[in-house]
Amino acid sequence: MMKEITQFEKHVVEIWRRPRQRHMHLRVRPDGALRITCHRRVAKSEIFAFLRESEGFIQKSLTALSRQSERFPPKTFVSGESFLYLGQRLPLEIIWSWSPRIQVRAHNDSLEMVAPLTSKPAERQVAWNKFMQKRAREIFAERVATFAERMKLYPASVSVRGQRTRWGSCSSEGRLNLNWKLLAAPPDVIDYVIVHELAHLAQMNHSPKFWAIVERHYPAYGAAKSWLKANEPEIRVQFQKVP
Ligand SMILES: [Zn+2]
Repeated sequence: MMKEITQFEKHVVEIWRRPRQRHMHLRVRPDGALRITCHRRVAKSEIFAFLRESEGFIQKSLTALSRQSERFPPKTFVSGESFLYLGQRLPLEIIWSWSPRIQVRAHNDSLEMVAPLTSKPAERQVAWNKFMQKRAREIFAERVATFAERMKLYPASVSVRGQRTRWGSCSSEGRLNLNWKLLAAPPDVIDYVIVHELAHLAQMNHSPKFWAIVERHYPAYGAAKSWLKANEPEIRVQFQKVP
């Protein structure tokens, strides 16, 4: 697969060429970039014609995106902002300190960050992300072990990463990847993603057989899927890089 980046009017356009793609597809990515997927021999002029035809769709999508960013303004890591942590929306409390180290702690009803007065939002975000990654590793490892035992499906390895678009994945070699940003979700939603990925060890597809395995170990998977879908915009903003 080849990726090309080009400009169309005021938009950044990613072109992904796939050998077997028959029809051109257009999607508006959450960051506002346009992504075209098409067959490898489609001419650029055809792509531009397709984009011109899609102007209405593009505008509508971009308007919806900007409305969303009003609902969930980007974070700057100051007191009073709230963050999703294990499904709870917790207020952040910054404690200014002369210590050069930034420390993060999660309490039952708040998140606490001890940070030097001179720290920049980006530095506070780095500390927050590190905290989230560490907690994610601990919590996910325990949940994967529990469900692997229950399902009798054992991954070859488990890694915790910061994928941009997926909550988890499972390779054909049985390697499980889980997104640490999932720590924003309630524990039972995290369990769903783990059950889903473990089920791929038995079925590398989304066939009825696959969903039967998921359902056996996680009957309410519909609700978990809906939670992720409904809260994705907020989670995305929460982890958007601060300037
Ligand atoms: Zn899947």
